[in-house]
Amino acid sequence: MSEQQPGALYVVATPIGNLADISLRAIETLRQVDVIAAEDTRHSRYLLQQHAIDTPCISLHEHNEQQRSELLLQRLLNGESAALISDAGTPLISDPGYRLVSLLKSQGLSVIPIPGASAVIAALSVSGLRSDSFIFEGFLPSKANALRQKLTALEQETRTMIFYESPKRVLASLQIMVEVLGEQRLVCMARELTKLHETIKTASLVNLRDWVLHDEHAQKGEIVLLVEGSQQSPRADQQEIDRVLQLLIRELSVKKAASLASSLLGISKNEAYQQALKLQHK
Ligand code: SAM
Repeated sequence: MSEQQPGALYVVATPIGNLADISLRAIETLRQVDVIAAEDTRHSRYLLQQHAIDTPCISLHEHNEQQRSELLLQRLLNGESAALISDAGTPLISDPGYRLVSLLKSQGLSVIPIPGASAVIAALSVSGLRSDSFIFEGFLPSKANALRQKLTALEQETRTMIFYESPKRVLASLQIMVEVLGEQRLVCMARELTKLHETIKTASLVNLRDWVLHDEHAQKGEIVLLVEGSQQSPRADQQEIDRVLQLLIRELSVKKAASLASSLLGISKNEAYQQALKLQHK
């Protein structure tokens, strides 16, 4: 493995549970850089000790990121090399580091990834949900109203949706998902990945909610929720709805026209039927 590049920042992924989930290149990089910026130096000490890494550490967390970024910029401009790690997984993924990376890149410095674990990707790879196209939304809002709004905005999203969730809120969030997204959407709960009590369960929203309600362990530990994208075609705008309905009711009964329009336009049969009735007499 090569010597570290002077003036570069290495963004190094660390395990999300199982301490063996760290790459040889990550260990070598952490040994060779001049300084490690860690989200919590005390938390990372155990991992670093396990791999005989005695590189000096400084903290870089959400409350000191601005100031630490400027300090690291100066050190890198002086030819040192640095690594960034977070408490678990890949830095910057719902973790600090964005301000540091954008500052260094704006100054023309090299930022080099040392990839590895991230809960979002680990969960997606075993969920059984579509993986060709997905969105990651980080942590779900903690307040019920904000969560309801967020889910309403995502109701027609066709890609798999991935969220980080707190065990304290998971049941309430699943309940709101049932209300906003319906009972039958598939959802996967990936809990304690790579750890002793790893649990990966994929079911309809209503069944998963009931399972979480009745299983005493389900509301503990670290959790990723993945929700199947909408299977319905996206809703057409009102002008398009009326145009298609008018064409259909010229040839078909209102009931048949409404049923066809509902699948073509991404609206409910009832809405299509009511609108067709209105248009019929125009
Ligand atoms: N940077 C991390 C990554 O790459 O996944 C994420 C850090 S974020 C502060 C912590 C959240 O990630 C947890 O609350 C949980 O939602 C998710 N997470 C982290 N480790 C996990 C694990 N082993 N199993 C399930 N979810 C995990």
